[in-house]
Amino acid sequence: MDGLRACVHCGICLPQCPTYRVLGEEMDSPRGRVYLMRAAAEGRLGLTEGMARHLDLCLGCRACETACPSGVPFGQLLEATRGQLERRGVVAPQRASRLLEFILGVFPHPRRLGPMLHVLRLYQRSGMQALVRRLGLLAPFPRLRAMETLLPPLPAPAALPPERVAARGPRHRARAGVLLGCAQRFFYPDVNHDTVRLLAAAGYEVVVPRTQGCCGALHLHAGRLDEFRTMARRLVRAFDDVDLVVVNAAGCGSAMKEYGHWLPDENARRFAARVRDVSEVLVGAELPLRPLRETVTYHEPCHLAHGQRVRAEPRDLLREIPGLVLIDLPDADLCCGSAGVYNLLEPEMADELGRRKSARIRETGARIVTAGNPGCLMQIRQHCRAEGLSVEVVHPVTLLARALEER
Ligand code: SF4
Ligand code: SF4
Repeated sequence: MDGLRACVHCGICLPQCPTYRVLGEEMDSPRGRVYLMRAAAEGRLGLTEGMARHLDLCLGCRACETACPSGVPFGQLLEATRGQLERRGVVAPQRASRLLEFILGVFPHPRRLGPMLHVLRLYQRSGMQALVRRLGLLAPFPRLRAMETLLPPLPAPAALPPERVAARGPRHRARAGVLLGCAQRFFYPDVNHDTVRLLAAAGYEVVVPRTQGCCGALHLHAGRLDEFRTMARRLVRAFDDVDLVVVNAAGCGSAMKEYGHWLPDENARRFAARVRDVSEVLVGAELPLRPLRETVTYHEPCHLAHGQRVRAEPRDLLREIPGLVLIDLPDADLCCGSAGVYNLLEPEMADELGRRKSARIRETGARIVTAGNPGCLMQIRQHCRAEGLSVEVVHPVTLLARALEER
């Protein structure tokens, strides 16, 4: 309640809010949403479907938190209120509840997601995908179409990185555990392999625990706090013998850094204090890098910029690559529309934000766009392709690995 009362209605957050920028509606702004949440908490307003709808449309990007001079903890308030709506069964009619159930039932479970992606890989490689797109067969099903168009070309199933890799180089820094991530391990397995290789080259002993599961971020954002806590406790146990837990997916890292808030026990607090984004660990690590003559622009994932307040490190890391020219992206920290699985659940708003992001990328003239979150990579890639913009969309770790000189 203190967090809700901290809002002084100044409106400074409004221009930073993507949904307010698109819709121009007070109730789809941070100030309006705080008003609704406070009115419900004080019993002046019931938990209604209308309120649920305004909260559904929120991306949870937390740009408002960064902007707010009063320190309103918007992300935690949003997730707690979504938890209440969830417990009371209040669902806006526009919400694709069955799709959300399907996503939560499959995406955080590698043993279910893997076989499903195997079928989709066959769909892509058999020519079926090209046919479906040419004939526009999914046009009557906007959410299914959103899922289908987002799907990047699926790589062949890849082995996991080794369970243990010795530190290399003259300096042994610490033991680092690497999170594989549910999306990252299937959609961008090279990013995990490159993360391990770079950490070892920087002097870290690397551990990739096989007992690790999902971090629970999707459940947290959906207000499924009990399931989130179960997943979080399991992850804490999997990484109990490392000095650092290194994450290359911003959404996962943001949730993991907040375990201490949601699981008030000493183990969770200690775990959260050891979580680092990969850019925080590798910046200044004096990796042996050869020149990479590329023009690159950097999109800030919301859960890195606003959720973790990690802003300088990814850019500084890219600037360590000799020959690389980093071009500023206007509105770099404005959400691209991905926001976990938001782009599957709210394709219209997500498409509008994706279009705006690709227009800003076009202005830079860069050949490569980089972002440290698999959801952003998929969303930006899809929208750049749809707008006919020929850019490569990769994780910063990929660029660093390309420049790494093996010692
Ligand atoms: S989290 Fe993002 S979308 Fe939601 S109110 Fe804040 S700025 Fe707007
Ligand atoms: S900036 Fe903070 S205090 Fe001002 S309206 Fe937004 S949430 Fe409220």
